[in-house]
Amino acid sequence: MKAAIIHEFGGPEVLRYEDVPDPQPRKDQLLVRVRACAMNHLDLWVRKGLPGVKLPHILGSDIAGEIVEAGEYVTGFRPGQRVLLAPMHFCHHCEQCVAGRQNLCREFTVLGNGVDGGNCELIAVPAVNVIPIPDHLGFTEAASVPLVFLTAYHMLTGRAAVRPGQTVLVLGANSGVGIAAIQLAKLYGATVIATAGDDRKTQLAKQLGADHVINHYQQKIGDEARKLTGRLGVDIVVEHVGAATWNESMKALKPGGTLVTCGATSGPEATFDLRFLFARQLALLGSYMGTMGELHDVLKLVFAGKLKPVVDKTFPLREVRTAHEYLEQSKMFGKVVLIP
Ligand SMILES: [Zn+2]
Repeated sequence: MKAAIIHEFGGPEVLRYEDVPDPQPRKDQLLVRVRACAMNHLDLWVRKGLPGVKLPHILGSDIAGEIVEAGEYVTGFRPGQRVLLAPMHFCHHCEQCVAGRQNLCREFTVLGNGVDGGNCELIAVPAVNVIPIPDHLGFTEAASVPLVFLTAYHMLTGRAAVRPGQTVLVLGANSGVGIAAIQLAKLYGATVIATAGDDRKTQLAKQLGADHVINHYQQKIGDEARKLTGRLGVDIVVEHVGAATWNESMKALKPGGTLVTCGATSGPEATFDLRFLFARQLALLGSYMGTMGELHDVLKLVFAGKLKPVVDKTFPLREVRTAHEYLEQSKMFGKVVLIP
């Protein structure tokens, strides 16, 4: 089969589109023909080099496609069935996995990170990863869902426990997590303040349901969030930008507020005054992906049309380098999807 593969870490030039052996599914796995694989910032981090990534390596976390064949031990699926894949790998038998907290498993990793991903034509995965999709959902849209909607769902419900009437500040409205978090926070009855970098992204954020949008290049996020809340501050901040916005995000919180973070796109180092943390009784929460149960929950909302994936642009898989360059420029609003 064809695959976008890296033999070394580095810039987009290390991505190669070449022939690799077809995967051989185990008896407990399904073989899936990849019809679409959405990109995430994680692809850029993995390409540049992350601990635990073995070379050569196939990138790509968010996969939708069709079942080719099911292994001998797998029941309940048929060839040709349209599916998406849970973008994660876990051990299935440790105490965290059997309790349904797969993202706390010691073996937990994201497809395309610790294990090979879906920037290829065929992938073999355990049956637990394979989730049928409704006919009305296209492969490109389906691939745009799993990682970011699961991440935003776990952040807002599993970690920050959002409640109706609260105010949620969502950083980076144009990012996959931002797009999912705006819609989810609205669905849970919150008022949403989003941040965006230009007028076009501001308009798109409002179309998704954001009540207010702050231009994070022209305005101070903390000051604006306080103005918009009558000097109170927000209940929850959904962070994934990291170093560039961390202090403003903390300043935006009301006393007793919660900052939940799943990323550090602009850099991993943050410093703050500990007195600010304890005197204002803030909660800082880490969040990583989510559980299989949460994935099924959030997919029900997507399949019912209550949450909508947003696709910015598709590229043929053979143009994976151009797609990486495009993602690195952050011009997108929504997902960038590779089509094998
Ligand atoms: Zn486990």
